[in-house]
Amino acid sequence: MDLYEYQGRELFERHGLPVLSGGVAETPDEARAIAERLGDRVVVKAQVKVGGRGKAGGVKLAGDADEAVARTADILGMDIKGHPVHRVMVTVTVDIVEEYYLSYLLDRANRTFLCIASVAGGMDIEQVAAETPERVAKIAIDANAGVDEAKAREIVEAAKFPADVADQIADIAVKLWRAFVAEDATLVEVNPLAKTAGGRVLCLDAKVTLDDNADFRHPDHEAMVDAGPVDPLERAAKEKDLNYVKLDGEVGIIGNGAGLVMSTLDVVAYAGERHGGVKPANFLDIGGGASAAVMANGLEIVLSDPSVRSVFVNVFGGITACDEVANGIVQALALLADRGETVTKPLVVRLDGNNAEAGRAILDGANNPLVQRVDTMDGAAERAAELAAAGE
Ligand code: GDP
Ligand code: MN
Repeated sequence: MDLYEYQGRELFERHGLPVLSGGVAETPDEARAIAERLGDRVVVKAQVKVGGRGKAGGVKLAGDADEAVARTADILGMDIKGHPVHRVMVTVTVDIVEEYYLSYLLDRANRTFLCIASVAGGMDIEQVAAETPERVAKIAIDANAGVDEAKAREIVEAAKFPADVADQIADIAVKLWRAFVAEDATLVEVNPLAKTAGGRVLCLDAKVTLDDNADFRHPDHEAMVDAGPVDPLERAAKEKDLNYVKLDGEVGIIGNGAGLVMSTLDVVAYAGERHGGVKPANFLDIGGGASAAVMANGLEIVLSDPSVRSVFVNVFGGITACDEVANGIVQALALLADRGETVTKPLVVRLDGNNAEAGRAILDGANNPLVQRVDTMDGAAERAAELAAAGE
């Protein structure tokens, strides 16, 4: 999960990093209240999860509360690279004399962590790296050793930070690493890390990506999840950890593996052209180890879509054998019946791969009138499209 700058700023503050005080506003009135509380010149910054806000006009200085209100009104509703602005952050502003860059990230290719540091901050680090690579230092960070005082000094040396800010940056480098580890981040980026006219070094921007796989040990991260206007079915699917995307057709799709589900969408779309133009109603990948419970959750979501008229369950047995999947389908239908959800829409099931014969025998044995077995992907797509076209 990527954080908004204001969330990153708060996270930095909790970890003792030097940030400017401020708050977040959704209306010009809220911005006024913050500016009056701060009682100083402020900066108003668009809160969108995309970089380059400065260049796009999403960062504006304001001399007093009235100006803060005006700048907030300008910025709210702006579109920055396809991201509409719903909030602004209002903070105290400072006079910047130099802008540096500092980040930690997961270096997947080298199976380690990396610090990127540069005296040329403020702009795109990719551009600096391309045009003046000698101004960008990359320092590998050992996961076990981390960043202590000595390592921080190494970073300061490598990036050639000026002597007058060396101590402050070393301290920031240690704290930023602690924040990175403590929050299970995969990226923390400060750009600009700014030197003020008074000689202080401050984190003036905060870009943070948290590792969702570590959510279980960070109950407080939940509160930072964007509650954007999403499709109700997608929201329900997300709550059940299902990889579901709502589409606008009539044939519900369930498969195991993203690649298989993608190609299932294609064959159903082609088959649909021969059957009144029916189309896939969704993307749903139930993953490799599709248990009965996961299958039940998947079926429940797909069947609760009112536009679905038939469902195509397309499974290629790999590590999970087809007999287990077949049992999953049978149990899922029983589970749904137990939950009081009477299934009335036809299911076309194609099982192939590991233990396909055993899986097909289980489906045949269950003899559920709603379940039709078709053993080829094209044939099953054809049948599912036909049933959807026939349904009302
Ligand atoms: P980005 O363009 O999306 O990365 O947004 P930033 O937060 O990095 O802001 C862009 C630029 O605006 C920075 O490089 C600074 O030059 C300037 N800026 C940001 N915050 C402040 C601030 O508090 N005071 C001043 N004077 N300038 C700021
Ligand atoms: Mn920035």
